[in-house]
Amino acid sequence: MMTQVVSKVAVVGSGISGAVCASTLAKNGVSVTLFESARGPGGRMSQRREMSEDGKELLFDHGAPFFTVNDSDDVMALVREWESRGLVNQWKDNFGSFDRISCKFLGIDKEGLNKKYVGMPGMNSICKAICHEPGVQSKFGVGIGKMEWLEHESLWSLTALDGQYLGCFKGVVASDKNIVSSRFTEVTGRPPPLDMDWAPELAVKLRDIPVLPCFSLMLAFAEPLSLIPVKGFSFRNSDVLSWAHCDSSKPGRSATSERWVLHSTVEYAKGVIKKTGLQKPSNVTLTEVAEDMFQEFQGAGLSSSQPFFRRAHRWGSAFPGASIAKEEKCVWDKKKRLAICGDFCVSPNIEGF
Ligand SMILES: Cc1cc2nc3c(=O)[nH]c(=O)nc-3n(C[C@H](O)[C@H](O)[C@H](O)COP(=O)(O)OP(=O)(O)OC[C@H]3O[C@@H](n4cnc5c(N)ncnc54)[C@H](O)[C@@H]3O)c2cc1C
Repeated sequence: MMTQVVSKVAVVGSGISGAVCASTLAKNGVSVTLFESARGPGGRMSQRREMSEDGKELLFDHGAPFFTVNDSDDVMALVREWESRGLVNQWKDNFGSFDRISCKFLGIDKEGLNKKYVGMPGMNSICKAICHEPGVQSKFGVGIGKMEWLEHESLWSLTALDGQYLGCFKGVVASDKNIVSSRFTEVTGRPPPLDMDWAPELAVKLRDIPVLPCFSLMLAFAEPLSLIPVKGFSFRNSDVLSWAHCDSSKPGRSATSERWVLHSTVEYAKGVIKKTGLQKPSNVTLTEVAEDMFQEFQGAGLSSSQPFFRRAHRWGSAFPGASIAKEEKCVWDKKKRLAICGDFCVSPNIEGF
């Protein structure tokens, strides 16, 4: 008996790489089922929903704060389409850099050289919209635990992390390199979903991509931080902080409180992970990280008031440390109809999907 195919292609991951891939396939008449282990779409372009103690909703772009388009006409064409649909807007505030030694702002650019784009009303809005386009069936909260190639049937069989059989597909696009890496085991305690022994060169290429971690600290203040003359800035000479931005200043965001997001340096995050390992960080660890990062911010004279909300988040693989398929744009096995894509292929940013 022939195995029933659920849809032509399964896409794993609803970050910008998986979401754009799913919608492009669907636009070309290919039926797609998208699986995402998280509760919602966006991956590292997620928007985090928090509640203050007095029940106020607080939204934060706690991953990528914005994106630019420098090199790709194809990406620019997509951005123009998203702009026309109201999914992205330009963020036109002042940006600069801050020296931790002199505790002074060094340069204040008007807009920087490149236009800065943000999702509307959150960074996740683009993925959210394109994951729900006609022809894409999206399933959230479904982590892929096993992807098996059935040689006789020339099909992929997918199983969820909880053991549930998800069906068979003619092709698979995986948009996370951890799908083949031992990092998956370090985080989940399980073997990686995709065994790539049949393509050893490809497997090594994917397994050896270095990853750079980062912590984000979400802060909400009752009053504006009036000592800061810009809405986004990088840090120089800080061991702890690399970037800060005023999330509530972006277009389309609620301005009922002033919300800031700080990013740690990669070195600071590596130091914490060395002590705690890669499993989900405990509340104690996140509280200590929040304290360190806020102390650095306040110690630099950037905030004279205390936030009424603060919470840290760990990004274990915030940025890939290498680009493995700049020309091809993805890793691809034609015979098995398997593609592996993501920002680790072209460049470590949103434009690099
Ligand atoms: C703190 C921070 C700051 C950043 N700053 C910028 C910036 O200023 N500008 C910029 O352009 N970029 C920035 N980036 C990088 C940018 O966010 C990424 O390059 C981009 O979002 C990567 O998209 P992706 O789809 O390739 O991967 P991801 O967004 O990581 O998507 C992969 C998805 O796959 C899902 N997944 C993984 N395994 C499974 C599984 N087994 N089953 C089901 N689902 C699975 C994950 O949950 C995730 O949603 C930043 C990132 C971080 C973390």
